[in-house]
Amino acid sequence: MFSQPITASCILCHTSLQDEQQPLCLCQYCLDDLPVITHSCPQCGNALKADIHGLCGRCQTHPPIVDKTFSLFHYKPPMNYLIKQLKFNHSILAADLLGKLMAEAIIQQNTTCPEALIATPLHTKRLRQRGYNQAIEIAKPLAKKLNIPLLTDALIRNKHNRPQTECSAKERKTNLRNSFSCASPLPYSCIAIIDDVISTGTTVNEIAKVLKKNGAKTVFAWSCTHS
Ligand SMILES: [Zn+2]
Ligand SMILES: [Zn+2]
Repeated sequence: MFSQPITASCILCHTSLQDEQQPLCLCQYCLDDLPVITHSCPQCGNALKADIHGLCGRCQTHPPIVDKTFSLFHYKPPMNYLIKQLKFNHSILAADLLGKLMAEAIIQQNTTCPEALIATPLHTKRLRQRGYNQAIEIAKPLAKKLNIPLLTDALIRNKHNRPQTECSAKERKTNLRNSFSCASPLPYSCIAIIDDVISTGTTVNEIAKVLKKNGAKTVFAWSCTHS
């Protein structure tokens, strides 16, 4: 009898994987080495020093529209590599891995689960260029594991904005203004926005504003990484 050949290899270090590691496509060594955010502001998700508890200073004086933010990893190696694979290299393996890791972390937290997920939409022009929306690809395995609906048509991106990463801090605030709208009122009171990266939080807060105008009472932001 021949043993089953091991076909899958780790997405990061390419070593062959044991059977139990194959669903994630990540070896235990690489998994243990991921830059998890261990302590952050519950509202905006900014990483905090271990001795600071509760909300960060900024959320205390200027609370964002998003009620709670959860970002799993720091945007640094190897997460920046995985996000680039996801965004520019059509890596469904990376999307599946990131979605599953987020689901596991969220289940472990045992916090209030939203009634629905909405991935940050791309403008149709960018969607055509890329062929897919990376945030939806992360949200799919997440929605499946959490057993909640992923709303793919509820939120529309009206403007083809410059990427936020190419804008100055001042431009970021106005670049996204009136960029999003809802197709119809939302029958959900608690919704989580899913994105691959949160940096200043401008995008998720602009979306949260629109979701709250259209019926949501509570909006969470969940991202794979925080830069
Ligand atoms: Zn590995
Ligand atoms: Zn904060």
